[in-house]
Amino acid sequence: MGAPTSASGHVPHIAVLAGDGIGTEVVEVGLRVLQTAAEAYGWNFSADHALIGGAAIDATGSALPDATLHLASRADAVYFGAVGGPKWDNPLAKVRPEQGILGLRKALDLYANLRPVKLSPSLLSHSVLKEDIVRGTDMIVVRELTGGLYFGKPSRRWQSPTGWRAVDTLAYSEQEIERVLRTSFDLARLRRKKVTSVDKANVLTTGRFWREIANRVAVDYPDVTLEHILVDSAAMYLIRRPASFDVVVTENMFGDILTDEASVLAGSMGMLPSASLGSQRNSLGGVQGLYEPIHGTALYTPEVVGTGRANPIAAILSAALMLRYSLALPAVADAIEHAVETILEAGFRTSDIAGPGTEIVVTDRMGELIAAEIARAASSTQKARITAPTVA
Ligand code: NAD
Repeated sequence: MGAPTSASGHVPHIAVLAGDGIGTEVVEVGLRVLQTAAEAYGWNFSADHALIGGAAIDATGSALPDATLHLASRADAVYFGAVGGPKWDNPLAKVRPEQGILGLRKALDLYANLRPVKLSPSLLSHSVLKEDIVRGTDMIVVRELTGGLYFGKPSRRWQSPTGWRAVDTLAYSEQEIERVLRTSFDLARLRRKKVTSVDKANVLTTGRFWREIANRVAVDYPDVTLEHILVDSAAMYLIRRPASFDVVVTENMFGDILTDEASVLAGSMGMLPSASLGSQRNSLGGVQGLYEPIHGTALYTPEVVGTGRANPIAAILSAALMLRYSLALPAVADAIEHAVETILEAGFRTSDIAGPGTEIVVTDRMGELIAAEIARAASSTQKARITAPTVA
C-alpha cells in the first residue's frame, strides 16, 4: 500500500499521559499497536511521556505539572490513560488526580467529547440487552464539555434564615452551543447523515435556546436530518432502539449521564474509546484532541491491575480515533479498527468480554494479536496491488 502521510508532511508528535493503574498498561499496548501501524503503512511519529494524576501528585505535588501541560499544549494530540485511585481519594485533599484531566480539558479548550458506541457483531451476545435490540448499533454521542451546569456560576452553598441552601447554574452561550452542534453535523456528514439533538426544551430556557440554535445550524446542512428528543425520552430510546441513532449531541450534564448509559450497550468498559476535540488546528491540519478509553484506572478492583486482565481494546480504538481526527491518517485508523474486529471474530477475548468456552488472552497478547493482524493486512494489500493485473 502507498505510504499514507499526513496532509502537511509533518511527523506527528504525541504527548503520552498514561496516568495511573491500568491506564499505564493499556496505553503502552496502544503505543505498540500504533508503532506497528506506522511501520506497516510507512509513516512515523514521535511520542513523549509525562506524568499526570496520582503519579504526578506523588512525584511533584501537582496533578497537572507545568511540564505536562507544556508538552500537551505543543503536541499534535494527547494520548491519555486514566487517573485516580484509593491512594489519592481523601475527600479533604486539596490536590486530586481528576484535576489533571479537568485542567487539560480547560487548558486545551476541548469542548466536544465524542464517544462512539459500535457493537462488534461477534460480541452481540455479551451485551446486557437482547441481541435483536442491539444488533446494528453504531452511534457517536457528542457531549458538550466546557459549559453547562458543571461550570456555571453561581455554584455555592449558603446558610439562609430558613436553613442551608445550594445552587448550581446551567449557563450556555450561543457560541458554545453552536460550535458543538457544528462538530456534530460535520461528523454526521461522514456517517449516516442524521443528528439527534437532546435537550429539555419543555422545561428549561437553556433547552429552548439549544433547540433554536440547532434548527438554525441545520439550515447549513440540508443533507443531514435533524431530530429533537427530550432527554428523558432519549434515556429510554437508547435502551429500546439504540440502532436508530447516528450522531447524538447534547449538553454537558445530560451527556455525562447518557454516555455512561450508552456505554453499557457494548458490554464492557474495556471496549469503548473516546475523543475530546478542541477548536485549534494542529501542525498536521487535524484538530487538536485528547484520546482516552472511557474506563478508569481499575484501582478499586486490584485483581485487574497488573494481572493482564485489562482489556486494551478501548485504548487501541482511542489511538485509531487519534489517527482519524488529529493525525489526518484516516486510512490507518480504519486499518486498526478492522484488525480489532478481525481478532474478535477469530474468538480471542480478554477476561472482561469472555463467554463460556472462549480463549482468554492477557492484555499484552491481545495487543500483539491486533498488531500482527494490522501488519498482515497491510502486507496482503501490498501484495494484492503488486500482483493485480493492469487493466487497460
Ligand atoms: P473503572 O472504569 O476503573 O472500573 C470499573 C469496572 O470495570 C471495574 O470492575 C474494572 O475492573 C472494570 N474495567 C474497567 N476498565 C477495564 C478494562 N480495560 N478491562 C477490564 N476491566 C475493566 O471505574 P471505577 O472503579 O469507578 O474507578 C477507578 C478509578 O478510576 C477512580 O479513581 C475513578 O475516579 C477513576 N476514573 C478515571 C477516569 C479518567 O481518568 N478519565 C474515568 C473513570 C474513572
